[in-house]
Amino acid sequence: MLWIPPRSVFQNLGTHLILCFLCGMMSADPTTETVIGLMTKYPLIDGHNDLALKMRILYNNQLSQVDLRSINKVATDINRLKTGHVGAQVFAAYVLCASQKKDAVRLTLEQIDLIRRMCTEHPDLELVTSAKGLNSTKKIACLISIEGGHSIDSSLPTLRMFYQLGVRSMALTHTCNTPWAESSSTIYDVYQRENDSLTDFGKDVVKEMNRLGMIVDLSHSSWSTARAVLQVSKAPVIFSHSSAHSVCNHSRNVPDDLLHKLKEKRGLIMVNMHSKFVACQHQADVSTVADHFTHLRKVIGAESIGVGGDFDGAVEFPLGLEDVSKYPTLIQELVKRNWTEKELSGVLRLNFLRVFEEVEKERDRLKGTLPSEAQIPLAKVENPCRLVLRHPNKQDPQFSRDKSDFVAPMCLVWRIIVTLIPCFLLIQ
Ligand SMILES: [Zn+2]
Repeated sequence: MLWIPPRSVFQNLGTHLILCFLCGMMSADPTTETVIGLMTKYPLIDGHNDLALKMRILYNNQLSQVDLRSINKVATDINRLKTGHVGAQVFAAYVLCASQKKDAVRLTLEQIDLIRRMCTEHPDLELVTSAKGLNSTKKIACLISIEGGHSIDSSLPTLRMFYQLGVRSMALTHTCNTPWAESSSTIYDVYQRENDSLTDFGKDVVKEMNRLGMIVDLSHSSWSTARAVLQVSKAPVIFSHSSAHSVCNHSRNVPDDLLHKLKEKRGLIMVNMHSKFVACQHQADVSTVADHFTHLRKVIGAESIGVGGDFDGAVEFPLGLEDVSKYPTLIQELVKRNWTEKELSGVLRLNFLRVFEEVEKERDRLKGTLPSEAQIPLAKVENPCRLVLRHPNKQDPQFSRDKSDFVAPMCLVWRIIVTLIPCFLLIQ
């Protein structure tokens, strides 16, 4: 018997055809769905973000004044992280180089406190401190990094305490030299040394970071410091937000010979989006950024590449990549350039996870090694804020009488009176 479909079936079919047609019109580019599928499967780990700095500048770190889901005048908030398919964000605890020799440690602690508060008080965020934690959370994972070795004031105990607070990565310098490592920038004329890009104490810092399981970040370091670190570090290192020097010859970018060494050490370069670093000028677009990826893939392979946007730190971003919500546009450009799913899964997520796991493995291998007690000579620190520790005496210029000097004798007098009164009463 011939079955004649009822009229409603034709009506439904018609509706489906119209919907399909409309969908097709809306996503005319077939790569859009591929990208969304890919980024849902491999949510992006972004290696560098300076929202915490903006929170200091715009809101004096008063988190209660801000709705993290939607923040004005910044490039990062939870809504935009979700739109951008960012699964994990490394937040930088950055303090100005001008705080070196002053209160860099206090300021860094305040930035860490802010990031910890952001990532523990908001239900959409989760502070993670291990590769396993990073990979298993269903929320947007937050990692804490320190941007600039000046934050530890040349003190390994301070470095260790930062680790205890959840810091899992540190850039050895920002735009200033430290007493033990050299910056790619010469803006600050401090701690100038010839042929001493990573001093013995600098090597101790790197080794201690290996022992702790803290990722060494070479973005902002000079190339000679980077080369020295690549010799010393037993664990893979990263450039958390740097691009290819062959595409844009800025000193913040990484030259090919250094890229080869980075690959040998199984490290990672996470491409910076700042227009000045990707195009060497103020104007750039998505294609310019993709050129860096293309070059890096040619030189060291996709397995050594990640993404480190530098949003809210740098000031100018390419057209179409203005904030963290725009990452799918970049991935779409790479899909159009025939990057495979395997390559992009690494760039988005798996390469960073692999490096983090290897850093943890080196930490585990060094388990049982005692914390380093290396100290930098005080004269090399040149920090007038550092107290020279010695027992105070009245001839010492450091010694100044304060209330406590008078409290002790007063206590003694009071004790004598309290002891003598009962005796006096007994005699009576
Ligand atoms: Zn930076």
